[in-house]
Amino acid sequence: MLPKTYLASDHDIDSRLIDEDALYVIETLRNAGHKAYLVGGSVRDLLTKKTPKDFDISTSAKPEEIKALFQRRCLLIGRRFRLAHIRFGHKVIEVATFRSGDTDSQDLITHDNRWGTEEEDVMRRDFTINGLFYDPSSHIVIDYVGGWEDTRKGILRSIGDPLNRFRQDPVRMIRILKFIARLGFKMSKDCADALQACKTEIVKSSPSRLLEEVLKMMESGFSFEFFKLLSAFGILELIFPDLYRFLKTKKGDEVYHYLRIIDQVHRKHPKAPLDRSILVSCLLYPALEQEIENEYIAKGTKPHLGQIIFASTDVIKNLITHSFSHFPRRLTHLASYILSTQYRFTPLTGKRHAKPKFTSHKEFPLALTFFKLRAVFNPTLTETYESWKKFHQQKTRPARGAHHPPPKRRQATDEESTVPEKEAIS
Ligand code: ATP
Ligand code: MG
Repeated sequence: MLPKTYLASDHDIDSRLIDEDALYVIETLRNAGHKAYLVGGSVRDLLTKKTPKDFDISTSAKPEEIKALFQRRCLLIGRRFRLAHIRFGHKVIEVATFRSGDTDSQDLITHDNRWGTEEEDVMRRDFTINGLFYDPSSHIVIDYVGGWEDTRKGILRSIGDPLNRFRQDPVRMIRILKFIARLGFKMSKDCADALQACKTEIVKSSPSRLLEEVLKMMESGFSFEFFKLLSAFGILELIFPDLYRFLKTKKGDEVYHYLRIIDQVHRKHPKAPLDRSILVSCLLYPALEQEIENEYIAKGTKPHLGQIIFASTDVIKNLITHSFSHFPRRLTHLASYILSTQYRFTPLTGKRHAKPKFTSHKEFPLALTFFKLRAVFNPTLTETYESWKKFHQQKTRPARGAHHPPPKRRQATDEESTVPEKEAIS
């Protein structure tokens, strides 16, 4: 099939938004005689005037050929999808060889490494808006699936029969809700019907991929809309049933307030997301308050710290790990620490420690950042927050005249907040 092509005069893609290293990778592949295009989210974002988060490249070159071209810069990864990661410092440009997929099958995809043509490569992608190629040297957009029109009209349409496509890979159901939340697009009627028909299959999807999409959305600046959609379309009750029920209560509504707050942070600092343990804590903190109210305050007692830690663990178990046993331990451990530490900042007894040792804990800044979110939620806490912040700054400030070697540069992992806490929420 011949694709539709759109010339530079048909679109207003701002080439300055395209990463230089991605352009270099495409050029290098081209110069070696291969086809290479920008594809997927970056083309969609360029067309809708958003700054792309990442630049995926699709090529006719096989992984070994890519490796030979980029040598030590290139790491071949993945079992399910074999991909090349080309590294430029901390940045990674993902390069995938054109693949074909059995798009008519209803079976769950377990293996997806058959090489194909550029057209086949588009056909195995999820939605038409994600199926466009862009050739940065000629500025031509190549469209095999009607993605150009759908992007213009703001419609999410599946490439191929949505019933089959959702069954093959149920994570696509989460992805369609993600694009509605982020882009404000509407889904086509056949996608909406298929979503209703297939939603229970979401439990068959790979837990790590599912969780990655959910956590990525919590960093996107559109988590409020996303969670509302997950709930409205009956997906949240399948993946996090207890959280779903809690969100329906009056106290549960506070979670949505926290989501709005983190969305504000991320819209202001899109490149420096809050640590994921803080994001998870936003889902849990109101439930912990509720539990402490029900189990202690309402009965006329106040829990001691051990009981608070126990209650935090309980809330994490009920709302998250009970239904989602693959949840990373690092996140639940840190969330438990962050949650229980809130009761040190604002003890239920109202008393404050004279020389609190807990501020020396290496993860203390995470707990303090969450406290700042609480203060945004409830401004009467601002003064207390400021005093803890000052206390912490004084403790960490080096003594005058002391000689300190320059700090070693360390690469921040994607799970760490790279933004200074005071900058992140201003
Ligand atoms: P984001 O802006 O969140 O990165 P994206 O669409 O670029 O959104 P990626 O996960 O980066 O999402 O995937 C890149 C491209 O790979 C997509 O645009 C789409 O073409 C294809 N893709 C991703 N996930 C799937 C899937 N589950 N099924 C089919 N194609 C997919
Ligand atoms: Mg992407």
